[in-house]
Amino acid sequence: MTTPPPETLFAALARLARHLEATPKRLEKRGLLAEFLRSLQREEIAPAVHLVVGRIFAEADARALNVGWATLRRALEGKRQTTLVAEPLTVLEASRAFAAIAATHGPDSVRERRRLLESLLGRVDPADRDILLRILFGEMRIGVNEGVMLEGIAEAADLPAENVRTAHMFLGDLGRVAEIALSEGLPGLRSAGLRLLSPVKPMLAEMAEDPDDVLTEHGGETAIEFKLDGARIQIHRDGDAVRIFSRRLTDVTDSLPELVAFAKSLPASRFLLEGEVVAVDHGGRPLPFQDLMRRFRRVHGIEEASREIPLKLFLFDLLTVDGRDLVDAPYRERWSRLEALVPRDVLTPRTIARTKGEIEAFLQRSLEEGHEGLMAKALDAPYSVGKRGKKWFKIKPADRLDLVIVAAEWGSGRRQGWLSNYWLAVRDAATGRFQMIGKTFKGLTDEEFILMTERMKALAVSEERWGYHVRPEVVVEVAYNEIQKSPHYPSGFALRFARIARIRDDKGPEDADTYARLKELYERQFERKGRAPAEL
Ligand code: AMP
Repeated sequence: MTTPPPETLFAALARLARHLEATPKRLEKRGLLAEFLRSLQREEIAPAVHLVVGRIFAEADARALNVGWATLRRALEGKRQTTLVAEPLTVLEASRAFAAIAATHGPDSVRERRRLLESLLGRVDPADRDILLRILFGEMRIGVNEGVMLEGIAEAADLPAENVRTAHMFLGDLGRVAEIALSEGLPGLRSAGLRLLSPVKPMLAEMAEDPDDVLTEHGGETAIEFKLDGARIQIHRDGDAVRIFSRRLTDVTDSLPELVAFAKSLPASRFLLEGEVVAVDHGGRPLPFQDLMRRFRRVHGIEEASREIPLKLFLFDLLTVDGRDLVDAPYRERWSRLEALVPRDVLTPRTIARTKGEIEAFLQRSLEEGHEGLMAKALDAPYSVGKRGKKWFKIKPADRLDLVIVAAEWGSGRRQGWLSNYWLAVRDAATGRFQMIGKTFKGLTDEEFILMTERMKALAVSEERWGYHVRPEVVVEVAYNEIQKSPHYPSGFALRFARIARIRDDKGPEDADTYARLKELYERQFERKGRAPAEL
């Protein structure tokens, strides 16, 4: 009998992380990752990949650790009192412990989480513990983003990076892609195309400022649709099975029974539809986005919720129907098949435009009817799974940014006892860090302040006199009057009159607006107004 190979130690992963951090060159990072990935057993690959990119679970996995700063501090103190010499921690054990922490519930869960954490922390030496804590706090920051990891996987498996990237778009799970690439090679990756009932990364749009640019880019003709102010969903049906996924690929089927019934009523049995759902009142008028999110989060009393907050569905794409894969088909064809499959009243309002005037008039109509703006889509373009590009443009008035909350301060006066002043940051795509550009305590209701206080505590990474620094996870849409140059923040910019327009639980920090976009918006302001001499 052969003995199984020893499990990879967490210490090896931590060593790799330190190495990666100290290696600025992308090419060298890729080499280090490849070497490490090749040394792993099959079942270790997925968990290790997630940990190295600083994630605890796969992208679409909705589980959370719910470990706040206070619990962790107590676990660290508790660990110091442990004198037992423990077995060194392995990668698989770390991953199982995270799953166990996420699974705790009930009255004793805080204590149980602390106990699990204590034993985890007690099994690594101080340098490795630092890496473990960084993973726990979502602050790995070793310069390994998804892109670098995908290249590392390609090198480890000796496969073209393009195939690895495409498989990732369809599978939406970096760990699983690595596992398939390394153990099944190219045939495995190739078969990772569209599969009904598994979520697909949605195609994304770039911002367009001038309708003429859109027309030029799309060859003189573009399909313009209302950009609806709701949440994106994909509806999969395979016979009797229906599954609905959010933009972040989480399974939201159980919260949306009326959409399940709708999918079952259509005259085809295998399809993948894409669209947007909007919460409406009984008169059909759009309700605030927060109400929609309440529907998404709901696990109990769903029937009652669907009576209270009816949903309206707007469909705009069809990726496969009854065995016909349409991902590579031009948008023109996908739309006509969509029209043939679904009733007219669930189609997104749309027209074909050939002039700037037509686009502007349709934009006006969309805004007047309470929507966000327009989407402009190239009629000849295939569906680029997971990609943001010029085949789809969004056109909307630019005075809002999606920002990430990086810290929260205690309020005073009426807001006493609430973590109610939020530090707002853009994402620096080059470094993966968040750059602060303002603070606000405006825009939330009392009920939202209370909920946000709990969320901030659970995400805290360090406690200060004034509040907490938090793990950058919560995305908020922030309205502002102006972007100003400011010596106040290292970013060099600050928002004037920032206020939270809504909490964007459908977005993650990776969807937040970037530093580059902020600078672009800053520059663009001067197209509308004068510039002070000092600015020139
Ligand atoms: P943004 O969130 O500003 O990056 O815009 C992209 C989002 O707009 C998508 O993820 C959809 O949720 C939403 N959206 C609204 N209407 C449409 C539409 N007609 N086509 C595509 N996406 C839409």
